[in-house]
Amino acid sequence: MAAPPRNISKSRFCVGLQCLRRLWWEIHEPDAPELKPDDRLQAVFDRGHRVGELARERFVGGTLIDFEPWKVGERVDATAAALRAGANVVFEASFAAGGVFAALDVLEKRKRAWTLVEVKATLDVKEQFLPDVAVQLYAARAAGVDVRGAELMHLNRDCTYPDLDDLFVRDDVTDEVEALLPAIPRQIRKMRASLEGKLPEIEPGEQCSSPYDCPFVARCHPELPEHHVSTLYRLHPKRRAEFDEAGFETIHDIPDDVRLSNVAARQVRAVKAGELVVDDGLGEALAAIEYPAAFLDFESINPAVPVWDGCRPYQHVPVQVSCHVVGARGRTEHHDHLANAAGDPRAALAEAVVGACEGVRSVVAYNAGFEAKCLEHLADAVPKLRKPLWSIRERLVDLLPIVRDHVYHPGFAGGFGLKAVLPALVPALAYDDLDIADGDTASTALEALLLAPESIGAAEGRTLRKQLRAYCERDTLALVKLTERLAQLRT
Ligand code: SF4
Repeated sequence: MAAPPRNISKSRFCVGLQCLRRLWWEIHEPDAPELKPDDRLQAVFDRGHRVGELARERFVGGTLIDFEPWKVGERVDATAAALRAGANVVFEASFAAGGVFAALDVLEKRKRAWTLVEVKATLDVKEQFLPDVAVQLYAARAAGVDVRGAELMHLNRDCTYPDLDDLFVRDDVTDEVEALLPAIPRQIRKMRASLEGKLPEIEPGEQCSSPYDCPFVARCHPELPEHHVSTLYRLHPKRRAEFDEAGFETIHDIPDDVRLSNVAARQVRAVKAGELVVDDGLGEALAAIEYPAAFLDFESINPAVPVWDGCRPYQHVPVQVSCHVVGARGRTEHHDHLANAAGDPRAALAEAVVGACEGVRSVVAYNAGFEAKCLEHLADAVPKLRKPLWSIRERLVDLLPIVRDHVYHPGFAGGFGLKAVLPALVPALAYDDLDIADGDTASTALEALLLAPESIGAAEGRTLRKQLRAYCERDTLALVKLTERLAQLRT
């Protein structure tokens, strides 16, 4: 029996029903660079571990099988010893039986039979969790343990800080998992046979991106040509299949008489012409921006376990803002605020936003729905500033639809995110000189900085703050420069 590789989570090992090609690489190349988690993935793993530890506190007593994942023999022996000693709750109970190894988050005795509990740092039960639980149930029963129930324990979306008593909910999934059990022995045999042979030949398909992105995509998927049909704006899978059948590989192959949405048709025109296309109406759309105008961007964190009053699991909480204010004569001022580690940051942030936007006529954001939600959140959290925050929200102008509905440059490559649009329209203002250059990285850094400052030293903390401020400032400067460029393009 193969032991779980050292650098992947035990649950991934336990998913015996995943793509066999991927599994083959995970077992035969445990040190593959694709399997080394980057900072973002490591943060997801860390979050899962933290939630797992909090879940354990919900059980009375409990014996922890405390060995590294790859120490299969020690784990199995310690589990057997705990059960012999009469433990009623075992964390990380491990079994090697029925041709498979499985480690259970929690094994809990109810009266005389056992229930296995799989802990997930999610808000819902997802179908893809069930095969994992089925393998665990199969392995525990094969080891002679009378497990009669299976539950998924996950975060409760209605739990509200500071009352964390109902942080978790437990859903009984016994029937769903029992239904999967008959197929498990055959699937395990297939998996073992595949692992003993050569790398399986498996065509790339839905399994490469659903339910999770496979880390080996670059090994299996051929590089797509520039302007591949899949980059066409909002291409429905059915339409994509029709295009494949018709032999259209790139946007250049799509005949002019094919009916498309206005945005996709503009994209096709720009790609075929190899140049920027600007349609009528851009000037009228830009007229919605009245000066003086604030160009606003928030950064947020969404901790799995809420930490400030009124917050729920995974709720986005704004903790940083950047704002460039452009006067009627073009004079520009920059304001920003980044929360400190101590305490609830929202009152100070709300004051900073209200101060920065005082006297402006328009508030410009990119994909402004996010900024609207941040302003609403702050208005609820800081009632004394509710009125001015709602007033700012009412003055929001979203630059994204202005670009999407009037402009296409072949460099957009099918996307209208700021990171796709900016290099094509304002090439002098990129993000590649910044240490933090995207929102997910910023959010991961902010969460560490504010909620786990002890995990980073003081010097690293100061560096991170500098990098975060530079990133957020670049986002709003980008909006100013993009708006100037759009103004030059209007017809
Ligand atoms: S990219 Fe797709 S086919 Fe290749 S290993 Fe991953 S899931 Fe399997």
